[in-house]
Amino acid sequence: MKRILTGDRTTGKLHLGHYAGSLQNRVKLQKEYDTFIILADVQALTTHFERPELINQSIYDVAIDNLSVGLDPDNITMFLQSKISAIAELTVFYSMLVSVNSLRHNPTIKTEAKQYGYDDLSYGFLGYPVSQAADMTFCDADLVPVGEDQLPHIEQGRKIVRRFNSLYGKGKIIVKEPQALISNTPRLIGLDGNFKMGKSLGNAIYLSDTAEDVNEKVKSAITDKDRISIKDKGNPDICTVSKYHQAINHSEYENICEMCRNANIGCTACKDLLSKKINLLLAPFREKHVYYEEHKSKVRDIILEGSKKANRIGNETIENVKKAMNIYME
Ligand code: SF4
Repeated sequence: MKRILTGDRTTGKLHLGHYAGSLQNRVKLQKEYDTFIILADVQALTTHFERPELINQSIYDVAIDNLSVGLDPDNITMFLQSKISAIAELTVFYSMLVSVNSLRHNPTIKTEAKQYGYDDLSYGFLGYPVSQAADMTFCDADLVPVGEDQLPHIEQGRKIVRRFNSLYGKGKIIVKEPQALISNTPRLIGLDGNFKMGKSLGNAIYLSDTAEDVNEKVKSAITDKDRISIKDKGNPDICTVSKYHQAINHSEYENICEMCRNANIGCTACKDLLSKKINLLLAPFREKHVYYEEHKSKVRDIILEGSKKANRIGNETIENVKKAMNIYME
């Protein structure tokens, strides 16, 4: 079975955007691949270093969200990034093989720095593609599921691996070069049309939201502003509600767009329909969520067991890496 490495930064509860963009795919892939889920608490520090308590609380939130949507603890290996010493060591070794300029020119870094409003990047933020290369390779991952926007990171990681193997491998592969597994699901935007979603912006539907939360939030979603009355024809291409229908309610999406363009559906009815679909989707997740919230020790065991397994693999990788680099003593 080929291995995939995927996961989330532990910076808060996961929302519908995470589900549409990667979690639902993750649930499908767990049957075909040996699935490693990283709870990226170290990477979370790149943007949340001043809020370590949030990162710590989010470890459980993110783990429970992953388990609630259908990831089976018997099928997957879920581990905590900060518990895997091989990742930290590989990050240091790999950092010698990448130039500051190539990191500065990484388009994803540039875009994300802009989104966070950073003009003077920290060493950790600039270098997080290097630590991602360590995440991908410490466990011999064959594939890394990503959206198009993350491709530059994967490519940068692959370059580092190639450089490492050509410098130290003496014709052998010491660390495996992972491939990207592209997911073409469009990125879901916030209910207010904002590219970024978050608690402070109040524009995201969380997987753990109640039905009432969902109804209220959907009511507040931005629609086609030029559609004043129900008799006006709408433009679903500029409406956030239609984007959510596209992501969650695939079978009715085309029909809804058609009805909107011909003024055959009002925005209130369109939003009600969306709320129903979202609540139908989230209902089974909520049940599991309650279960895991009440059994946090089980979640802890899943993470600790996964981390133990990941460490076993990581320690082997790091031993080979150090030998290849001549960093060892008999
Ligand atoms: Fe948006 Fe639906 Fe209203 Fe059209 S009918 S503008 S898709 S909410």
